[in-house]
Amino acid sequence: MSTPSTPQTQGWCPGALRPMLSGDGLVVRVRPFAGQLSPAQALGIAALAERHGNGLLDLTQRANLQLRGVAPADHPAVLDGLRSLGLLDASPQAEARRNILVNPFWTPDDGTLHLAAALADALADADAPTLPGKFGFAVDCVAQTVLHTSSADIRLERAPQGILVRADGYPTGAVVDLNEAIPTAMELARWFLAHGSRRMAALATPTAYQPLPPRFQTPANAAPAAAPQPGPVAHGWLVGFEFGQIQASTLAALAARGALRMTPWQMLLLEGCAHAPDGGGLITQPFDPRLRVIACTGAPGCLQAAAATRPLARTLAALVPPGSLLHVSGCSKGCAHPQAAPTLVATPAGFDLIRFGVASTPPDLRALSPETIASYLPPIFHAS
Ligand code: SF4
Repeated sequence: MSTPSTPQTQGWCPGALRPMLSGDGLVVRVRPFAGQLSPAQALGIAALAERHGNGLLDLTQRANLQLRGVAPADHPAVLDGLRSLGLLDASPQAEARRNILVNPFWTPDDGTLHLAAALADALADADAPTLPGKFGFAVDCVAQTVLHTSSADIRLERAPQGILVRADGYPTGAVVDLNEAIPTAMELARWFLAHGSRRMAALATPTAYQPLPPRFQTPANAAPAAAPQPGPVAHGWLVGFEFGQIQASTLAALAARGALRMTPWQMLLLEGCAHAPDGGGLITQPFDPRLRVIACTGAPGCLQAAAATRPLARTLAALVPPGSLLHVSGCSKGCAHPQAAPTLVATPAGFDLIRFGVASTPPDLRALSPETIASYLPPIFHAS
């Protein structure tokens, strides 16, 4: 068995034009424009995953889909397929900058699609600001904001008099009309670049604080909504998937029902779906125990993993009480869940247990065998 490499934080996210090499081949990330996939596009992606990948796709927290297990020799054919589906950017640089989350509960007349398209155009411009690899935008302009817990550096939110453009981490922003929203977001991006940080929220911290330009002083909206759960919603049905991974055949079956909207919660919104869809691996209700475990790719798919993660997480799901969460990580990087939780971290000697922390927190117990871990969990959840 090969030794896992030391965890490293990648400063960039993969794309289609710039894929990332993983333990099971290339990871080719598709960024649907405005977070939407037509039935033809979703069917096309499913076919590409079957033909050139390992038939599995990840739903990412950036509301993207990524094909796994693509052989480098097959990458050009995948790009040809994506280009014919209208899913490719003009250049790797434009693709990297188009890091945009869209509130999936938009309606045709609320301006969301206009803003998402205008923002994509602005970021594709030759003179668009060159932003750090993980810098992102959230177009959250539906009456009820839902993207507040999703990573973004510049947020566009609905305000009574227009669109509030604000910097992540700051409680205030600038209110502008629909046509001014994207130029204002670009102004904020350039202001950020002038201060030389990697993420916007860092500029709002006491040690690195930078005051915003004077016109960004309108308080942000109150009380965002709780993160959505699988089940019926106003626009259709939200469907989750075990570990945020979907079989290509399942994607094709869902596409046959209608258009899909991407979400940052590893769920798909099936437009116009009035009844819970059937199908293996679908999570259609909020009380499903599979929602209580989070596990990264683990071995063998990730080169940095010390062990497989998902079989263990699947076994332990029934022990996690409603309202709690268990994180199983293949290494101390913890990329599937950067927040604190009861966490198991794979090491070459076994699993380390962190009662409550992130994957890099010093463990409370070390080198547990997978067979004994179940006996340690009830007291942890009972105490929390
Ligand atoms: S946390 Fe998991 S997916 Fe991330 S680098 Fe470690 S083993 Fe790989």
